[in-house]
Amino acid sequence: MIKMPELPEVETVKNELLPYVIGRHITSVTLFWPKMVRQPSVEEFCSRLIGQKLTGIARRGKYLIFNLSSGEVLIIHLRMTGSLLLKPASAGPDKFIRAIIHLDGEYGIYFRDPRKLGRMWLAADESEVVGKLGPEPLETNFTPQTLLKLLKNRTAPIKAILLDQNFIAGVGNMYADEALFAARIHPLRPGGSLSPDEVERLHHAIQQVLWSGIGNKGASTDTYFRPSGETGTAHFQFQVAHRLSGDYCPVCGTPIERIPIRNRGSYFCPRCQTPE
Ligand SMILES: [Zn+2]
Repeated sequence: MIKMPELPEVETVKNELLPYVIGRHITSVTLFWPKMVRQPSVEEFCSRLIGQKLTGIARRGKYLIFNLSSGEVLIIHLRMTGSLLLKPASAGPDKFIRAIIHLDGEYGIYFRDPRKLGRMWLAADESEVVGKLGPEPLETNFTPQTLLKLLKNRTAPIKAILLDQNFIAGVGNMYADEALFAARIHPLRPGGSLSPDEVERLHHAIQQVLWSGIGNKGASTDTYFRPSGETGTAHFQFQVAHRLSGDYCPVCGTPIERIPIRNRGSYFCPRCQTPE
């Protein structure tokens, strides 16, 4: 199963691209897989990007937002298998490079994406594309009280709720499993059934696993690479996420279980994370 980039991976891409691309001008755009451009037309996308200066990069959920000198934004979503690599302008594309944003500096941005599911948009405003995302879990306005309020009366399994980008932005399968394990909460518990203490534990665990993921430059369990082409090491810290069945809980030694929730494999310890 593919493990897609989540908040810590996208945040790492943003942090590591920033020093190399800010202040640079886009000199041309090469598309080997034009279908990744969702808006506007491919011709317009390329012609409107050329000559623009990159003035900033932000992250919203799993989206990367590149601010342009015109005031427009270039928005990139890595989806399942995308990576943005910094390569010297002279580098030839390998077979998984789907687009190159050529810059006037030493490096270009190479969009590598084996599965071709990544997306790019050029928009006047990010809200046109990212829509209504939930709160950013690492912002100061995301408090245990916010989480408690959001979970009130929710009957869906907590794991499914955490994966909903409109509920909370940027958390995906890996970090949701890790946060639930750290908080000792069973992934099938209805969201609204969590006690205030459990919500506080979960809030703390979400922030802790995300910060740790960022500190370790993301999890390279599959196809994720940092802009340098190096891998992240966050997956070495994972307690349950993507452990093979037969692996044991690092806390109590019980075999880790895997169950499907909303078509995603959920890993948990049936002893540390009891259903009640
Ligand atoms: Zn355990």
